[in-house]
Amino acid sequence: MNQTKKRVLVSGGAGYIGSHVTVELIEAGYDVVVADNLSNCDMTCFEGVKKITGRDDIPFEKMDCCDAPLVEALFSKYRIDAVIHFAAFKAVGESVAEPIKYYKNNLISFLNILDAAKNHGGCNVLFSSSATVYGETDKLPVTEESPRQPAMCSYGATKQICEDILVDVVRATSAYGDEIKAGASELGPVKGIALRYFNPIGAHPSALIGELPRGVPNNLVPYITQTAIGKRECLSIFGNDYPTPDGTCLRDYIDVVDLAKAHVAAVARMLDGKMKKGYEIFNVGTGKPVSVLELVTKFEKVNNLKLNYKFAPRRAGDITAIWADTSLANKELGWKAERSLEDTLKSAWQWECHLAGK
Ligand code: UDP
Repeated sequence: MNQTKKRVLVSGGAGYIGSHVTVELIEAGYDVVVADNLSNCDMTCFEGVKKITGRDDIPFEKMDCCDAPLVEALFSKYRIDAVIHFAAFKAVGESVAEPIKYYKNNLISFLNILDAAKNHGGCNVLFSSSATVYGETDKLPVTEESPRQPAMCSYGATKQICEDILVDVVRATSAYGDEIKAGASELGPVKGIALRYFNPIGAHPSALIGELPRGVPNNLVPYITQTAIGKRECLSIFGNDYPTPDGTCLRDYIDVVDLAKAHVAAVARMLDGKMKKGYEIFNVGTGKPVSVLELVTKFEKVNNLKLNYKFAPRRAGDITAIWADTSLANKELGWKAERSLEDTLKSAWQWECHLAGK
């Protein structure tokens, strides 16, 4: 029976989103191999994954995907049916200060994965992309057809470039668009899906895995939970003079478990031969804009606490508003966001309490 199980490589699988995806893949019946260099996380979430799934035997390879021979060896050691590639740096501000570090890490690791995939007979590749590729636009919500804007930071640029690399590799090795090139290449066929995430937040309902920022969090929800627990003194809401109903920015906050389920749906689509083109893109969001102030107020209400916050100047590089048109993912992946924002914000708080041992 086990021989027919499909195996998914999750690069960066010990991190925030990767660990939630690993849980959902295992619960959906896939075999998973996790590869992670632990550069931005420790084993906390991987241990949590083992507890949640009751599986002590999930293969874990501590390795850097920038090391090409190691990636080759990984593909030789395991038969890999699909790859979900998370292994990348993701801090916007740091990427502005250290662009070379970002380009090197994010591009080389992905190229190594693609190279190994085509050398080993081809593969289905799911790339973890971001709504950041859309930039600032008046045409909201954004669809997958919305034009990409020039990236505002090196992190965003790496997401765009990796999407483009995947397009080219798919085009060269298999079927892209209407051009079906069966057996046209000496390379193994690579098919690709890019999932463009909006703002992933929250934690697994078990509170055994969640976001573990190193140092001062850049993102809103970990900053909120750390302020609520007393690790940070006060949340700064960056800007209350935006042209939005309450003056604060609008985003599309997607529950991390819902997001993880979108990955399972996309992997199934690839493995079951349901793709309509060799390369596809899906927005993964809720389709609902929520302001920073609304999110803060809701967090206070559902968790029955008061948050210390103040209004502060705008943060450089922030866009006013973005949210997803999710109809394509709803229709083609048969997926939609299900968890309520209330439950998501409760889970974020429970995870922070779990970390604090409360
Ligand atoms: N934000 C904030 N205070 C913080 C962190 C974030 O007001 O300490 C705001 C930020 O300006 C943006 C929203 O929260 O409007 C979401 O920011 P985040 O960094 O989480 O994600 P982004 O949308 O920038 O990818």
